[in-house]
Amino acid sequence: MKVGDLEVLPIVDGTGREQAREVLSAPGGGDRWACHPEHLDADGNLELTLGGFLLRTGDRVVLVDAGVGRIHNDHYAGGGFLDALDAHGVAPGDVTDVVFTHLHFDHVGWATSKGQVVFDRATYRVHAADWAHFVEAADADPGAVRKLAPLRERLATFDAEHTVAPGLDARPTPGHTPGSTSYVVSSHGERALLIGDVAHSVVELEEPDWEAVFDVDPVAARAMRNRIADEVADTDDLVVPAHLPGLAVGRIVTFGDRRRVVIS
Ligand SMILES: [Zn+2]
Repeated sequence: MKVGDLEVLPIVDGTGREQAREVLSAPGGGDRWACHPEHLDADGNLELTLGGFLLRTGDRVVLVDAGVGRIHNDHYAGGGFLDALDAHGVAPGDVTDVVFTHLHFDHVGWATSKGQVVFDRATYRVHAADWAHFVEAADADPGAVRKLAPLRERLATFDAEHTVAPGLDARPTPGHTPGSTSYVVSSHGERALLIGDVAHSVVELEEPDWEAVFDVDPVAARAMRNRIADEVADTDDLVVPAHLPGLAVGRIVTFGDRRRVVIS
């Protein structure tokens, strides 16, 4: 995707699959998925593409999220991330910054491998609230701690909106996780909002009352999702959730009081 002079490239690692009715639903019951069959496969699964995005700006080579890693189970399969980067002429040592939208496993898969930092010259940037929740907390998941603790020496945490690199701003958008952060790419008046898992699917951006079981604070997550959707609706801003099939991007348009996502 082009944003002014900048190019944001999807880096596909693999795919995930979740039973849509188990993970995304509206309060109050009823089968609201019946209105959105085009997003489901024959077994009612929602497909999630896993990976991240590559942005070169100035002398920086930035990754936004780092895929799911070498996982193969019933739901998730990764492994293509480094090859996808290589196809764009980027070796792990070329990456200057890895910025995380949040620290769920499917966004940090290639942060480390077997206890070693993968992008060994990069600074790893994450909101302090996510580092506290996923790594420092007494009840943190041991698997997440094992995966992320080696980053300590290359870590830069933040707790407020700021410019990361020319044309790349970090904006805390908590709810999905305590430190969930969106990254705003801007150039020559054009913008793309890389929102991570503020929304997992097109449907969450279209249906203002839906909830995701993955949201740490579902009420805050829903409010943030709606705030961002309203901000970009009927503008040329691109909205870029982390998991749309094929890492697609879209724009939001309104018809009366309904929002629709138009895939670009
Ligand atoms: Zn995710």
